[in-house]
Amino acid sequence: MHIIHSNIKTVQDKIQCALHKAGRQPDDAKLLAVTKTFDAQTISHAYDAGLRMFGENKVQELLTKVPILPQDVQWHVIGHLQQNKVRNAVVNAACIHSVDSPQLLERIQRIAAEENKSPDLLVEVNVSAEESKYGAKPDDVEDLLANQPKGPAQIRGLMTVAPADATELELHHIFAKLRILRDKLQTKLNIQLPELSMGMSHDFEIAIEEGATIVRVGSAIFGHRDYSITH
Ligand SMILES: *Cc1c(COP(=O)(O)O)cnc(C)c1O
Repeated sequence: MHIIHSNIKTVQDKIQCALHKAGRQPDDAKLLAVTKTFDAQTISHAYDAGLRMFGENKVQELLTKVPILPQDVQWHVIGHLQQNKVRNAVVNAACIHSVDSPQLLERIQRIAAEENKSPDLLVEVNVSAEESKYGAKPDDVEDLLANQPKGPAQIRGLMTVAPADATELELHHIFAKLRILRDKLQTKLNIQLPELSMGMSHDFEIAIEEGATIVRVGSAIFGHRDYSITH
């Protein structure tokens, strides 16, 4: 078995264990394979193992891979989205995880209408309030959702990136905070936000225990990233 196949099996087994431990159903969390810095041939091993959801940070890099991989791949944009990359993101992505301002949302909706596309959207929330990170402040998310511009794309949930140096206890708190914020917003605004995108290679089991519906896993599937190749 190819190493990527066995890595995927290991990750999927851990996902199932964590779901079971949390009293959740086997299909309650989806695996998004994060493919940044890996070439199409490497990614195709994950495709052959049955994965169809792939995530890229950078729209430029996404554009190089979309034409090479099969049509039924669902591409997710998970990195900070610059205004001038919105059209290529909207045209190529099934889901954008990094909506973090009213201006960006407005532009996505305008371009989605122009392009006749309806990507799923997630609002990225900076739960741990790190200065250096992207994402809307937790207090600003209600306004963003309550005053949404009309458009074909739908906000389906929330996303967060936990700090790399957080302890296990801190990770539980951060992921629980995103879930609690989601629950509060659903009730207060009477909307549905079914998706919680949280958890990466080193913390996806904790995220699942706290309610993640999408885990974004890169290095645990593809191995160590060598940024010198693409950057
Ligand atoms: C790179 C990245 C991931 C995957 O990280 P790993 O630790 O390799 O699993 C997940 N989410 C985002 C936003 C990323 O940039």
